[in-house]
Amino acid sequence: MTDFDPNDYEMAELGPAIKDVDDIAALHAILDKEKTGQNRPGAVALIESRIEKYEHEDEDVDVGSLNLDEMSTADVGNAVQSIEDVDELRTLLEREEAGQDRGGVTRLIQSRIDSVAGSEEGDGEDVELEDELPPEEKHPDLSHPTADKRHVRALQDGTYRDMWVYCETQAGELVDVSKEMLGKARELMDDYNADYDADERVVAVLIGDNVSKHTDDVIAYGADVVVVHEDERLRRFQHTPFCEIFCDMARAGASHDGGEVTGGRDEDWRDYDKPRYALFPATNNGRDLSALVQAELDSGLASDCSGLYIEDTVISNPVKTGVAGEKKTFERVLHMKRPDFSGFEYSTILCLDNPRREFHPQGGSVIPGSFEIPEPDSDREGDVVHHEATLDDDWFTIAVTDHDQLDEGIDLTGHEVIVAVGRGIGANPTKGMELALDLADAFEDAEVGVSRGIVTGSYQFDGHVEQYTHEDRQIGETGQVVAPRLYIAVGISGAVQHKVGMDESETIVAINTDPEARIRDFSDYFVEGDLFEVLPRLTKALQDGELDLELAEAKAAGDGAAATDGGDQV
Ligand code: FAD
Repeated sequence: MTDFDPNDYEMAELGPAIKDVDDIAALHAILDKEKTGQNRPGAVALIESRIEKYEHEDEDVDVGSLNLDEMSTADVGNAVQSIEDVDELRTLLEREEAGQDRGGVTRLIQSRIDSVAGSEEGDGEDVELEDELPPEEKHPDLSHPTADKRHVRALQDGTYRDMWVYCETQAGELVDVSKEMLGKARELMDDYNADYDADERVVAVLIGDNVSKHTDDVIAYGADVVVVHEDERLRRFQHTPFCEIFCDMARAGASHDGGEVTGGRDEDWRDYDKPRYALFPATNNGRDLSALVQAELDSGLASDCSGLYIEDTVISNPVKTGVAGEKKTFERVLHMKRPDFSGFEYSTILCLDNPRREFHPQGGSVIPGSFEIPEPDSDREGDVVHHEATLDDDWFTIAVTDHDQLDEGIDLTGHEVIVAVGRGIGANPTKGMELALDLADAFEDAEVGVSRGIVTGSYQFDGHVEQYTHEDRQIGETGQVVAPRLYIAVGISGAVQHKVGMDESETIVAINTDPEARIRDFSDYFVEGDLFEVLPRLTKALQDGELDLELAEAKAAGDGAAATDGGDQV
């Protein structure tokens, strides 16, 4: 095996190629070849991790000599990695329980027992990937605040049914995205029931004060069952009580630990451990709740989704299949599409079980506006379940004692023309803003917007223009998205976060001193010049009714000012 040269392998091939090498001397020789060859950091780390594994295995731990009282949680975590005998591990567990009985230590030993026992039972070639280790074993030095959720973790071969939809209300009203999700959930579950010959339901969840008034509506929009929890203390969203209530609803009726009911309770309307799917709105509150709930239920979350479908899928990743080189079909998988890199690319996220751990509900939050609001059907029938639970006073330690309604701000959408101002005005911010306002005034229907560079910059503006420099006028990813007939970008570089807010505009004119500015790539006209010189000329041309001469005026303005069309200088 010392003939083995890692430099002959691509990174992706190297792991499988050395997985059978367990001789430490051979591994050291391979490491030397990599270091004197391509010396790829990933390859070096991979080979070193195998050396560490086998060196560690060679150290025979004498369980009897371990003095648990003197060992930290991390020491125990490291020591148990080398113990392969379940009986020895059980003895160690008993000793810890009879001694200090530290929760973290007993969990570590127990999960090592589970892992060793699991791999003894497993068929075929067991996967040795580190990813499969429970996090407590992988990083024993960390605190693992969710490690006590054993009643959920222990769930295997659980029963999962139904698609749950958290229906958010704001100021007492059902928000549109709740209706959009109900419509989509109805469509998905109708197809699901037909495809899998099933009878699973759309379950709407309403939590708040006086929310039962929405039950008819959510049924009309597609729910089969509505689970409601009302309490006047839930008038405003607060993440602890809302999360506790949702999770209690989701787990009720669950049977855990091999069929023994340990945390759930019987509920007539359901006979499953946890929901199969869960949808939340990607609003401020929905994002908060979705992350908490999915973590609490020991599952995953695809945030900010804009597309959903359910399909079987074939996976060969050994972390998921349990056996390297084999494919496995996962049934009824919710495919959650979400935009990445500000919408330049889409990923599809799947939430799949591991060989020794199940992940349900498969959950996602949904960007408002991604789906149509369906026509409500007032003839639809559904069940209403009132959820009963005692709400702990500790969940309400934070209270809103006073609040104010923020100004709604300015709506930049729907105008013919937007004059957007960026940090190019830095040499004289007030003057720059005045010039932009003058230009906007010269059009019949124009508004002034700004880049984030203005909102977060520390420019001093005089009072009469200061109101135009706030966040409510920001255009871009975290501001407004506009698509006017004419967009004039004044002293804006064209960062991707700005671009996504304006590149649907019909005609884009950029004014910039830098001919290499990124905005040039997506402008119809690029005016190379100083905005303090170009803007007055443009405004004057418009006021004089010489719009056709606009670009020629710009070209003439200032040293080196030039208008280019489609990136070519004219
Ligand atoms: P700069 O990048 O500094 O560009 C100034 C431009 O002015 C330069 O091209 C320069 O050549 C030109 N210039 C200088 N002097 C003159 C002159 N006298 N005449 C003409 N031109 C001149 N940004 C947004 O705009 N909207 C968003 O919604 C947004 N969201 C964001 C979200 C996140 C998570 C992050 C990380 C960033 C976000 N940003 C957003 C910030 C973004 O990345 C840029 O930092 C910002 O857009 C830059 O603003 P700017 O173009 O005004 O400034």
